[in-house]
Amino acid sequence: MSEEKETQVITAADVGTIDAAMLRDPELPDTREGQEAHVKSVARRCRGPKLVSDEDVAPRWDAWRVLRDEDDWDSALDMVQVLRKIAQSHATTGFTVSKVPDPEKGDWAALERIAFPLIRLRGATVGKGCGWPLNLEIVKHPFDGAEHVTTCPNCGNMISWKAPVFD
Ligand SMILES: [Zn+2]
Repeated sequence: MSEEKETQVITAADVGTIDAAMLRDPELPDTREGQEAHVKSVARRCRGPKLVSDEDVAPRWDAWRVLRDEDDWDSALDMVQVLRKIAQSHATTGFTVSKVPDPEKGDWAALERIAFPLIRLRGATVGKGCGWPLNLEIVKHPFDGAEHVTTCPNCGNMISWKAPVFD
């Protein structure tokens, strides 16, 4: 997936040299500079353009909702298989859409983590990701919880996001 998390590894030898503030329990930063650093501590990258139209995606969501409401696990697994085949047909040559093991029966949250990217079918799901860092845009706006839509300057993807809040 395109989501990456940067982790800072602090070894025993480093502890004496880092700022005492870094050793406190994590608190939400109260300066704009600290808040921007907090935002940037998690990479948020464009997942690439939509590979299927909204008109094609809507019935997929409808079908999924029915299966979910009826707790029809086996049919949902079948649907995921079909979605994988469709995704693979959009894939970059040589790219294989990952086949992770099916979750334990009834673990809908785990199954939806597999199914939803296949339903949406963004470029990154099939090896045609973009990678433009959305954080560059997020830090241009107030941290007020407002909803935003940004057009990726790299691939034209419409990215909707919500500004963070630090109160
Ligand atoms: Zn993009």
